[in-house]
Amino acid sequence: MWIDTHCHFDVEEFAHDRTQVAADAYAQGVEAIAVIAYLAKYWPQLLSVCQQFKQPQLLPVLGLHPCYISEHQNSELAQLEQHLQNNDCIAIGEIGLDTYVAEIKQPEFYQKQQQFFAEQLALAKQYQKPVVLHVRKAHADVFKIIKQQKFSEGGIVHAFSGGVEEAKTYAKLGFKLGIGGSVTYPQAKRLHSVVNAMPIESLVIETDAPDMIPMPHRQENAKYTRNSPAYLPSVAHALAQAKQLSSEQLAQILWKNSCQALHLSLKSRDF
Ligand SMILES: [Zn+2]
Repeated sequence: MWIDTHCHFDVEEFAHDRTQVAADAYAQGVEAIAVIAYLAKYWPQLLSVCQQFKQPQLLPVLGLHPCYISEHQNSELAQLEQHLQNNDCIAIGEIGLDTYVAEIKQPEFYQKQQQFFAEQLALAKQYQKPVVLHVRKAHADVFKIIKQQKFSEGGIVHAFSGGVEEAKTYAKLGFKLGIGGSVTYPQAKRLHSVVNAMPIESLVIETDAPDMIPMPHRQENAKYTRNSPAYLPSVAHALAQAKQLSSEQLAQILWKNSCQALHLSLKSRDF
C-alpha cells in the first residue's frame, strides 16, 4: 500500500530485469510508481515502459532536469506542451534549479536553468499539472519564481535537502517533501530535524531508484548499489519510527498525501 513518488524506472539499469523488479516492488506493497523524466530524448522510452505494467501502476512524469541543462533545447519545451495536450503525463518533472554542481552554476548555465524552470512551471500552470522539483542549494530562487508565477498546483520537492525554514515555505506554497533513502542514515541530521519538525501531512516517500539505496539494503551487500522501488518499505519503516506511527497508519496518510500532491485519485487494494 505504498506509492513510490520518485523513481527512474525507465533507465538502462533496469533493462535486463524490469519485469522482475516490478513484481518484487508489487509484492512489497508498492502499488504505484511515479516514473520521472530528465532528458527529452528518453521520453518515448519512459512512456512506453509506463504502458507495459499494471501492477504496480506506472505514472509518467515528463520534464527537463536542471542538471542536464546544457543538453536541453528550446524545441523540447514545445514537445513537452504537445505531451501535455495529449495528456501523456500526470505531472511535470523533474524540474528546478541546482547550484550544487559546479559546472551548471556558472552564470550562462544558471540563467538557462532559470529559463527552463520558469517555462516548465508556466506550462504546468497552464495545464493545471503539479510539478516534481529537483532543488539543491537554490531554494530562494525557486521560491522567487514560484511566487512570481503565482503557481498553485503544488507537487513534490524530491529528495528534500533544505532546512526546517525552507521546508515550511514549501508547505505554505502547497508542496510536499519527498523523503528518500537518506532518512535511513543516522548521520543525515538535517533531514531528521526536518522530518521531526514537519507534520506528516507534508511528507511523501520515494526511492529515486536506481540511485540512493537505503541503508538496510546497502548493508546486505556492499558491492551491490542499485536501488530498487522494491526497497521503498525501508524508507517507510524509518519514517514510521521517526513519526511514531504504525506502518498501517503511515501507509494511509502517505497514500492520501501522494494523491493530493500528484492530483491523483488512486484506489489502493488495501484501503
Ligand atoms: Zn530523480
